Amino acid sequence: MSPPEGKRACVIGAGFGGLALAIRLQAAGVATTLIEARDKPGGRAYYWQRDGFTFDAGPTVITDPACLRELWQLTGHDMANDVELLPVHPFYRLNWPDGTTFDYSNNEVALRREIARLDPADIAGYDAFLEYAAAVYEEGYVRLGSKPFLDFRAMVAAAPALARHRAWRSVYDTVASYVGNDKLRQALSFHTLLVGGNPLTTSSIYALIHKLEQDGGVWWARGGTNRLVAGMLRQFERLGGEVRLHDPVVHLEGNATRLTTVETQSGWHGRFDAVASNADVVHTYRDLMRGSPRGQTMGRRLAKKRFSPSLFVVHFGIEGSWPGIPHHMILFGPRYQGLLEDIYEHGVLPADFSIYLHHPTVTDPSMAPEGKSTFYALVPVAHMGKLTIDWQQVGPLLEQRVLAEVERRLIPDLSDRIVTKFHYAPRDFALDLSAHLGSAFSLEPILTQSAWFRCHNRDDVIGNLYLVGAGTHPGAGIPGVVGSAKATAGLLLEDLSR
Ligand SMILES: Cc1cc2nc3c(=O)[nH]c(=O)nc-3n(C[C@H](O)[C@H](O)[C@H](O)COP(=O)(O)OP(=O)(O)OC[C@H]3O[C@@H](n4cnc5c(N)ncnc54)[C@H](O)[C@@H]3O)c2cc1C
Repeated sequence: MSPPEGKRACVIGAGFGGLALAIRLQAAGVATTLIEARDKPGGRAYYWQRDGFTFDAGPTVITDPACLRELWQLTGHDMANDVELLPVHPFYRLNWPDGTTFDYSNNEVALRREIARLDPADIAGYDAFLEYAAAVYEEGYVRLGSKPFLDFRAMVAAAPALARHRAWRSVYDTVASYVGNDKLRQALSFHTLLVGGNPLTTSSIYALIHKLEQDGGVWWARGGTNRLVAGMLRQFERLGGEVRLHDPVVHLEGNATRLTTVETQSGWHGRFDAVASNADVVHTYRDLMRGSPRGQTMGRRLAKKRFSPSLFVVHFGIEGSWPGIPHHMILFGPRYQGLLEDIYEHGVLPADFSIYLHHPTVTDPSMAPEGKSTFYALVPVAHMGKLTIDWQQVGPLLEQRVLAEVERRLIPDLSDRIVTKFHYAPRDFALDLSAHLGSAFSLEPILTQSAWFRCHNRDDVIGNLYLVGAGTHPGAGIPGVVGSAKATAGLLLEDLSR
């Protein structure tokens, strides 16, 4: 493939997918402009600094660091000079209302000890599950995770493997076929929630996350995930890439089969050979291409799909240090299946909830002023298409309930210790990120919306429009969108080299 000399590309949106794609294009010699609507890059991985505390908005669990390192290795650079990754142990502490805990890690001896504490009879079942997870990891992540599914033939080619792994079964059902203990079933299946999937309905292929974590570990970027984002931006600019922040793209101009011009809110125009959107897929077609037949058709078609739920996140900075509270905790509520159905199917705001508690200062005290601690407590909630409540009214009440639960289960005098707090609700995802229905993870990762059935990395009709990020194959999560950037870059560079 000859280098695409003198070609220009535009990447809309500086989420992880957009940043990874922009680095790959610039590294290959394509003059790339990265345009971001907000004042800072990162997308879901935005951040705030308040009263001396640093609050990362989104991803906190960094898996498969190798897929990130690759973005530096492309040009002979070393990610370690820009970003310091620290290992996190345990990966998660799971906690149930009856006081049972389970420390989840990739220390084989410790993990087996934890399983035996729940039920020694499940150790053999866990070994068989790990074998299954390894097989789907090879197929779904290593082999197909960064391959574009542009035509149905690619799907047909993948079908025998999907059948062999019984991909129509859910992660939960698959786990349940290996282990009997109810808590262990939750411990081995909740991971799909990290990419927006319901463990009860998401394809068993997503059991690959277990193997991904076992092999690659769980990491933290010193200073927060925002430092990883900053490092990616630095690598892009170091290679000569151009960045425009705080200037949303408002219109994509072109004809029925090609885009030519990108226009932003400030009135800036740029002409490009290729345009890639990392923005929400419905927003891309429905809003940015509203005048074009393709934009209207795709906008309507995508809006009918199933979207992942949203999230409600309470950020709080408090007095004191909490060495006994690990970096990542899941405080399961009294219900698992019922709660998931309420969020994914019934679209109600349940009286109970499960909380993911993020406590970065235990790994990295630089996230808070000395002697203080930073936390966020996250609960999945139905998206705004299912749950039509006024978040401006309900938000403060839900914030109180979430903090009260953390106080009851972990930090007895929490309310007296709070220095600063705020929350982030579904409507904020919709307003800040143009996220359809305020979804936190874009299209729901069910089998009928995966691979070829997900948004293609290149539009089927407009030959120089590309997509990257959570709405495309393979889906949400940092490794997912960084994999989608690899798939999109491969296509785009091949097209520009013709
Ligand atoms: C609270 C939370 C916790 C999470 N935790 C984890 C985790 O621990 N580990 C993990 O791997 N994943 C996690 N995820 C998922 C992960 O963060 C996302 O899947 C991933 O970051 C999405 O990346 P993306 O490339 O799709 O872009 P996004 O992050 O969605 O970014 C898209 C960008 O496009 C910009 N944009 C939109 N419209 C325009 C426009 N018109 N013009 C210009 N720019 C525009 C937006 O402002 C945004 O910056 C979490 C997500 C959330 C919300």
